[in-house]
Amino acid sequence: MTDTRFPDVPTDLAEGVERHGRAVAAGENDVVLADFRRDRIGQLLASARPPDRMNASELLSIEPGPDELYTAHIRYTGAGGDQAVFRSRWIEIDGTWLVTQVRNVPDTPPVTPFAEPSEDGLDTPHWEGLAAGELRIQHCPACDEWIWSPRPICPACHHGELEWPSVEPVGTIYGWTRTWQAFHPSVTGHLPYVVVAVELPAAGNRRVVGVLLDGDGADVHVGLHVKAEFDSAPDPATPPLLRWRLS
Ligand SMILES: [Zn+2]
Repeated sequence: MTDTRFPDVPTDLAEGVERHGRAVAAGENDVVLADFRRDRIGQLLASARPPDRMNASELLSIEPGPDELYTAHIRYTGAGGDQAVFRSRWIEIDGTWLVTQVRNVPDTPPVTPFAEPSEDGLDTPHWEGLAAGELRIQHCPACDEWIWSPRPICPACHHGELEWPSVEPVGTIYGWTRTWQAFHPSVTGHLPYVVVAVELPAAGNRRVVGVLLDGDGADVHVGLHVKAEFDSAPDPATPPLLRWRLS
Protein backbone atom coordinates (compact mmCIF):
# COMPACT_ATOMS: atom_id res chain seq x y z
CA MET A 1 0.00 0.00 0.00
CA THR A 2 1.21 3.48 -0.81
CA ASP A 3 0.04 6.95 0.13
CA THR A 4 -1.62 8.77 -2.78
CA ARG A 5 0.41 11.91 -2.08
CA PHE A 6 3.66 9.97 -1.92
CA PRO A 7 3.25 7.06 -4.33
CA ASP A 8 6.78 5.73 -3.81
CA VAL A 9 6.39 5.51 -0.04
CA PRO A 10 4.70 2.84 2.11
CA THR A 11 1.45 4.15 3.63
CA ASP A 12 2.41 3.23 7.19
CA LEU A 13 5.63 5.21 6.83
CA ALA A 14 3.87 8.31 5.43
CA GLU A 15 1.32 8.17 8.23
CA GLY A 16 4.02 7.60 10.82
CA VAL A 17 6.09 10.55 9.63
CA GLU A 18 3.08 12.85 9.66
CA ARG A 19 2.15 11.68 13.17
CA HIS A 20 5.76 12.18 14.23
CA GLY A 21 5.70 15.77 12.97
CA ARG A 22 2.53 16.52 14.92
CA ALA A 23 4.06 14.98 18.07
CA VAL A 24 7.23 17.07 17.71
CA ALA A 25 5.20 20.27 17.26
CA ALA A 26 3.01 19.37 20.25
CA GLY A 27 5.98 18.58 22.46
CA GLU A 28 4.83 14.99 23.05
CA ASN A 29 8.29 13.83 23.93
CA ASP A 30 7.42 10.22 24.75
CA VAL A 31 5.88 9.80 21.28
CA VAL A 32 8.86 11.51 19.62
CA LEU A 33 11.41 9.40 21.48
CA ALA A 34 9.56 6.21 20.55
CA ASP A 35 10.13 7.12 16.88
CA PHE A 36 13.90 7.43 17.34
CA ARG A 37 16.28 4.61 16.65
CA ARG A 38 17.13 3.25 20.11
CA ASP A 39 20.90 3.44 19.78
CA ARG A 40 20.85 7.05 18.55
CA ILE A 41 18.42 8.81 20.87
CA GLY A 42 20.98 11.16 22.46
CA GLN A 43 22.52 12.04 19.12
CA LEU A 44 19.14 12.65 17.44
CA LEU A 45 17.86 14.84 20.28
CA ALA A 46 20.88 17.12 19.91
CA SER A 47 21.02 17.17 16.12
CA ALA A 48 18.30 19.61 15.08
CA ARG A 49 17.39 23.07 16.35
CA PRO A 50 13.61 23.73 16.40
CA PRO A 51 11.82 27.09 16.39
CA ASP A 52 10.78 28.51 19.77
CA ARG A 53 7.47 27.22 21.14
CA MET A 54 6.48 25.13 18.14
CA ASN A 55 2.80 24.98 17.36
CA ALA A 56 2.51 23.52 13.87
CA SER A 57 4.11 20.98 11.56
CA GLU A 58 3.71 20.37 7.85
CA LEU A 59 4.97 17.31 6.02
CA LEU A 60 6.55 18.68 2.84
CA SER A 61 7.88 15.53 1.20
CA ILE A 62 8.92 11.92 1.62
CA GLU A 63 10.90 9.98 -0.93
CA PRO A 64 12.94 6.79 -1.10
CA GLY A 65 16.69 6.95 -0.57
CA PRO A 66 19.51 7.09 0.00
CA ASP A 67 20.00 3.31 -0.02
CA GLU A 68 17.36 1.57 2.09
CA LEU A 69 16.37 4.76 3.93
CA TYR A 70 13.50 7.15 3.24
CA THR A 71 14.02 10.91 3.44
CA ALA A 72 11.30 13.22 4.82
CA HIS A 73 11.17 17.01 5.07
CA ILE A 74 8.92 18.51 7.75
CA ARG A 75 8.44 22.24 8.32
CA TYR A 76 7.89 23.37 11.91
CA THR A 77 6.44 26.76 12.81
CA GLY A 78 6.97 28.52 16.12
CA ALA A 79 4.53 30.69 18.04
CA GLY A 80 6.33 33.79 16.77
CA GLY A 81 6.04 32.67 13.15
CA ASP A 82 9.65 31.54 12.84
CA GLN A 83 10.12 28.33 10.88
CA ALA A 84 12.59 25.51 10.53
CA VAL A 85 12.70 22.62 8.08
CA PHE A 86 13.98 19.30 9.39
CA ARG A 87 15.21 16.56 7.14
CA SER A 88 14.68 13.19 8.79
CA ARG A 89 15.79 9.84 7.47
CA TRP A 90 13.81 6.73 8.34
CA ILE A 91 14.76 3.09 8.52
CA GLU A 92 12.63 0.00 9.02
CA ILE A 93 13.89 -2.12 11.92
CA ASP A 94 11.92 -5.24 12.91
CA GLY A 95 8.83 -3.94 11.10
CA THR A 96 8.90 -0.47 12.72
CA TRP A 97 9.85 2.77 10.97
CA LEU A 98 12.36 4.75 13.04
CA VAL A 99 14.27 8.01 12.66
CA THR A 100 17.97 7.26 12.11
CA GLN A 101 19.13 10.78 11.10
CA VAL A 102 17.73 14.27 11.51
CA ARG A 103 19.07 17.73 10.75
CA ASN A 104 18.05 21.26 9.88
CA VAL A 105 18.13 22.22 6.23
CA PRO A 106 19.65 24.01 4.48
CA ASP A 107 23.09 22.76 5.45
CA THR A 108 24.79 25.53 7.44
CA PRO A 109 28.32 25.34 8.88
CA PRO A 110 28.73 25.44 12.67
CA VAL A 111 30.41 28.32 14.47
CA THR A 112 32.25 26.61 17.28
CA PRO A 113 33.74 28.45 20.24
CA PHE A 114 37.04 26.65 19.61
CA ALA A 115 37.81 28.70 16.50
CA GLU A 116 39.15 31.87 18.07
CA PRO A 117 42.47 33.67 18.53
CA SER A 118 44.87 32.20 21.07
CA GLU A 119 45.28 34.04 24.36
CA ASP A 120 49.02 34.57 23.84
CA GLY A 121 48.35 36.57 20.66
CA LEU A 122 50.82 34.52 18.62
CA ASP A 123 48.28 33.91 15.87
CA THR A 124 46.83 37.46 15.76
CA PRO A 125 48.22 38.14 12.25
CA HIS A 126 46.41 35.05 10.98
CA TRP A 127 43.06 36.32 12.28
CA GLU A 128 43.73 39.80 10.95
CA GLY A 129 44.37 38.13 7.61
CA LEU A 130 41.02 36.34 7.68
CA ALA A 131 39.31 39.67 8.39
CA ALA A 132 41.06 41.07 5.32
CA GLY A 133 40.03 38.05 3.20
CA GLU A 134 43.54 36.58 3.16
CA LEU A 135 45.11 33.37 4.39
CA ARG A 136 48.28 34.35 6.27
CA ILE A 137 50.68 31.65 7.46
CA GLN A 138 53.79 32.19 9.56
CA HIS A 139 57.08 32.01 7.68
CA CYS A 140 60.78 32.27 8.57
CA PRO A 141 62.66 34.57 6.17
CA ALA A 142 66.01 33.25 7.40
CA CYS A 143 65.61 29.57 6.49
CA ASP A 144 62.36 29.59 4.42
CA GLU A 145 60.54 27.35 6.93
CA TRP A 146 56.72 27.57 6.94
CA ILE A 147 55.36 27.35 10.47
CA TRP A 148 51.93 26.20 11.64
CA SER A 149 50.75 26.42 14.32
CA PRO A 150 52.41 29.75 15.13
CA ARG A 151 55.57 29.88 17.27
CA PRO A 152 57.48 32.72 18.93
CA ILE A 153 60.69 31.76 17.09
CA CYS A 154 61.48 29.57 14.08
CA PRO A 155 61.54 25.91 15.22
CA ALA A 156 64.10 25.10 12.51
CA CYS A 157 66.74 27.84 12.90
CA HIS A 158 65.58 29.80 16.00
CA HIS A 159 65.36 33.04 14.05
CA GLY A 160 63.21 35.48 16.01
CA GLU A 161 61.81 37.81 13.35
CA LEU A 162 59.03 35.82 11.69
CA GLU A 163 56.77 37.13 8.93
CA TRP A 164 53.17 36.53 7.93
CA PRO A 165 52.83 36.46 4.15
CA SER A 166 49.46 35.94 2.50
CA VAL A 167 49.41 32.60 0.67
CA GLU A 168 47.19 31.33 -2.11
CA PRO A 169 44.14 29.95 -0.25
CA VAL A 170 43.91 26.62 -2.07
CA GLY A 171 45.00 23.16 -1.03
CA THR A 172 44.29 19.47 -0.97
CA ILE A 173 42.47 17.40 1.64
CA TYR A 174 45.00 15.57 3.82
CA GLY A 175 42.40 14.12 6.20
CA TRP A 176 38.75 14.62 7.03
CA THR A 177 35.99 13.56 9.41
CA ARG A 178 32.21 13.83 9.35
CA THR A 179 30.74 14.60 12.77
CA TRP A 180 27.26 13.36 13.67
CA GLN A 181 27.41 14.05 17.40
CA ALA A 182 26.65 17.41 19.00
CA PHE A 183 29.80 17.53 21.11
CA HIS A 184 29.03 21.18 21.89
CA PRO A 185 25.64 22.97 21.96
CA SER A 186 26.83 25.41 19.28
CA VAL A 187 26.84 22.68 16.62
CA THR A 188 23.18 21.71 17.16
CA GLY A 189 21.31 22.45 13.94
CA HIS A 190 24.46 22.05 11.86
CA LEU A 191 24.92 18.27 12.01
CA PRO A 192 26.43 16.43 10.33
CA TYR A 193 29.34 18.62 9.32
CA VAL A 194 32.71 17.80 7.78
CA VAL A 195 36.04 19.03 9.12
CA VAL A 196 39.03 18.90 6.79
CA ALA A 197 42.77 19.16 7.34
CA VAL A 198 44.03 20.98 4.26
CA GLU A 199 47.59 20.80 2.98
CA LEU A 200 48.75 24.13 1.55
CA PRO A 201 51.22 23.83 -1.36
CA ALA A 202 51.81 27.59 -1.17
CA ALA A 203 53.00 27.25 2.44
CA GLY A 204 55.39 24.31 2.32
CA ASN A 205 52.50 21.83 2.63
CA ARG A 206 51.65 23.04 6.14
CA ARG A 207 48.15 21.94 7.15
CA VAL A 208 45.29 23.99 8.51
CA VAL A 209 41.92 22.75 9.76
CA GLY A 210 38.48 24.06 8.89
CA VAL A 211 34.86 23.15 8.17
CA LEU A 212 34.00 22.03 4.64
CA LEU A 213 31.04 23.97 3.25
CA ASP A 214 28.09 21.90 1.96
CA GLY A 215 29.81 18.85 3.39
CA ASP A 216 26.73 16.81 4.34
CA GLY A 217 26.05 15.12 1.02
CA ALA A 218 29.54 15.62 -0.36
CA ASP A 219 31.66 12.68 -1.52
CA VAL A 220 34.79 13.65 0.42
CA HIS A 221 38.11 11.90 0.12
CA VAL A 222 41.80 12.50 0.64
CA GLY A 223 43.53 14.38 -2.15
CA LEU A 224 40.54 16.42 -3.36
CA HIS A 225 41.24 20.07 -4.14
CA VAL A 226 39.64 22.73 -1.97
CA LYS A 227 39.48 26.51 -1.96
CA ALA A 228 39.19 28.74 1.11
CA GLU A 229 36.24 31.01 1.80
CA PHE A 230 36.29 33.66 4.49
CA ASP A 231 33.04 33.52 6.37
CA SER A 232 32.14 36.52 8.49
CA ALA A 233 30.93 35.32 11.88
CA PRO A 234 27.28 36.04 12.81
CA ASP A 235 28.44 38.08 15.79
CA PRO A 236 30.56 41.09 14.73
CA ALA A 237 32.62 40.78 17.92
CA THR A 238 33.96 37.40 16.84
CA PRO A 239 36.55 36.92 14.09
CA PRO A 240 35.72 35.63 10.61
CA LEU A 241 36.11 31.93 9.98
CA LEU A 242 38.18 29.98 7.52
CA ARG A 243 35.95 27.60 5.54
CA TRP A 244 36.75 25.26 2.68
CA ARG A 245 34.85 24.34 -0.44
CA LEU A 246 35.50 21.51 -2.88
CA SER A 247 36.84 22.98 -6.11
ZN1 LIG B 1 64.06 29.58 10.26
